[in-house]
Amino acid sequence: MPIDLEDRGSALENEYFRRQEQELLAKMKAKMETEEAEVTSLKCPKCDGNLVEAVYENITIDACNKCQGVWLDAGELAQIIKKDEGGWFSNLFN
Ligand SMILES: [Zn+2]
Repeated sequence: MPIDLEDRGSALENEYFRRQEQELLAKMKAKMETEEAEVTSLKCPKCDGNLVEAVYENITIDACNKCQGVWLDAGELAQIIKKDEGGWFSNLFN
């Protein structure tokens, strides 16, 4: 069976491009997965807006960029009330 050099060359070329493509796809997939993870972890539970981290009195809170809702993690509300002692915010809970 004679070796067809031209065929062998294009086979190698195809293999090279196939690998390049696979690498590129793997990179794109990894990038999409991280982006997706970021978005899903910061989705507003009320609307389809995104929660953006904001800092209020050195406490990091999550505020929705669409409905302006504010989401507090456990303990954050207590921290805000404590910092705001005597203010309007803590009066809401008295
Ligand atoms: Zn929202």
